[in-house]
Amino acid sequence: MKIIHDKLPKKNLRGCLGRTPAQGFTIVELMIVVMIIGLLATVAYPFYGRARTTTQINQCQGHQRVLLGALELYMFEAEAGEAVTLNDILPFVKGETMPKCPAQGTYSLNSENEGIQGGIACSIASHNAEFNAD
Ligand SMILES: [Zn+2]
Repeated sequence: MKIIHDKLPKKNLRGCLGRTPAQGFTIVELMIVVMIIGLLATVAYPFYGRARTTTQINQCQGHQRVLLGALELYMFEAEAGEAVTLNDILPFVKGETMPKCPAQGTYSLNSENEGIQGGIACSIASHNAEFNAD
């Protein structure tokens, strides 16, 4: 049996809003959609910012642990009383590339104390963990 498309009722072409595809949406419908998207973005953005900060802190503390491990390895070979710089411990860092703070902080090495007591610190105070304190 051959289906003649012209004979089909026009109602089949209508979408869920009861109009043909050519008619599109009204400005009010579009504004409501934009408003809902804006509302969701407003709710989600603070969570995104907090998650980003937490990730940066975790990544920075991981870098500090790597540098601290390299400092410990360096201290096995170093002479007592030698001043230590970050460049000195670089050969003990895997890949021999200096890790970079994800929030553009800079790492410093406090070797005023004996051994590794000074430790590694990021210039951004909130990135410094408890493990560096003692
Ligand atoms: Zn940092």
